[in-house]
Amino acid sequence: MADSLKSKNAPEEKLQVSRRGFLKTGAAAAAIGVLGAIKAPSKVAEAAVSNYEYITPKKGQWSKLKPEPNYGGASVSYAEHNDQWLGTSKIVGTVKKFKEKDMGFALVAQGLLGPKAQAGFYTIGIRHPLSDALGWAISPIFGENIVDGQPKPEKLPIPDPEQMSMHIKDVAYYLRADEVGIGKMPEYGYYSDKMNPPMMGIIGGMVPRGTPLQDVPFTEKMPYVIVVAVEQHLETYLASTGYDGISDSQSFRCYHATANISIIMAKYIRELGYHARAHHFGNYGAVMAPCLIAAGMGELTRTGDCVAHPRMGFRNKVAAITTDLPLVPDKPIDFGMADFCRVCNKCADNCPSQAITHDRDMVDYNGYLRWNSDFKKCAQFRAGNDQGVSCGVCIKVCPWSSKESSWFHEAGIWIGSKGETASSLLKGIDDMFGYGTEIVDKYKWWLEWPELYKFEY
Ligand code: SF4
Ligand code: SF4
Repeated sequence: MADSLKSKNAPEEKLQVSRRGFLKTGAAAAAIGVLGAIKAPSKVAEAAVSNYEYITPKKGQWSKLKPEPNYGGASVSYAEHNDQWLGTSKIVGTVKKFKEKDMGFALVAQGLLGPKAQAGFYTIGIRHPLSDALGWAISPIFGENIVDGQPKPEKLPIPDPEQMSMHIKDVAYYLRADEVGIGKMPEYGYYSDKMNPPMMGIIGGMVPRGTPLQDVPFTEKMPYVIVVAVEQHLETYLASTGYDGISDSQSFRCYHATANISIIMAKYIRELGYHARAHHFGNYGAVMAPCLIAAGMGELTRTGDCVAHPRMGFRNKVAAITTDLPLVPDKPIDFGMADFCRVCNKCADNCPSQAITHDRDMVDYNGYLRWNSDFKKCAQFRAGNDQGVSCGVCIKVCPWSSKESSWFHEAGIWIGSKGETASSLLKGIDDMFGYGTEIVDKYKWWLEWPELYKFEY
């Protein structure tokens, strides 16, 4: 049985059909028949070609364990970034670093987005027993002495940085990362100042509510960033409303996994004699969006600074390792996300806090172009949600995030990466099937305790 997600911001229900029936009638084949007719190139790609050179990566560049990338069927081009572009993000001015205490959840913690959000945030990690357990497992590994340290005094020789890059990716896959990329670290990819107490101390309920946040200058400058991603559980998203009791655990499960992978990889690199610092949910010194783009793991989306991967969408969480280990970085990717977001609006239609803009085009934001979505409204809603814990509705509904692995969906993703006209077609098919907004009860495995989600403020 499948029910449907109804947020107060959701549009009128449109025609929906059963996927199974559609596939049986052969209509899928007819729809896929449009593939041959789709020739429109991505506008972003057209713009990009004149600004940077596309390259064809060598076969086997990625790793021995995973010699080819899995883009879920998307048509992907590779880009060389420069002063005017980071991947497909256009740089239009000076991109300034910002303080960690100016990001959404830090504003919430300081009480700047209202008393309800502040009260909710100080208990967000501990209200649901499962996210509490996952957060507890991250809490011993967020200290500076864990994420960073001195390298061994003797550097081991690295005669071939390309071979070392493949090896580092193999290490990440061996440690159970779902995706990994290596980027040239952008100068603006760090916070200017970290905050003290750190985020993990607040979320874990380790510091009293209202504790002032101090700025601690963050001065690291490393040439490379390794980014590791772990997928959030697809079936759980299919069964969830996106803002019920499991929502926070969906994030914490991946934060825990990526935190462990990142600290082990950083320590391993230091054992080779090179500097390496892990950046994970409990202790970020790097800002993940530019790192992800630089490492060829996605593009910006309508949500603002959230980066979508061609196969996983943004149904994943990431950690990173900044390092001076000799590596060969990957290239940023272009799979037509901007064209798709321009015609889609599905996250904006369903966001319960109306944080995501319906504007057609991007605007100048801190020296680069992105959609004008409001991260403060999002943080306020997630922290103050007392119908569940946190929120991931935009992840659930995004056509790039919520797909089972099959030839049909891969074909759809290929269509979606082929420009605006093709994107409109895929968005129409996605809506017709009720993708993203359906609630598939058969996958619901977790327990709910609504009384635990309420809090005093
Ligand atoms: S996570 Fe934030 S932006 Fe996404 S749907 Fe929820 S409130 Fe909206
Ligand atoms: S739901 Fe649609 S508009 Fe929103 S990020 Fe995904 S593709 Fe873009």
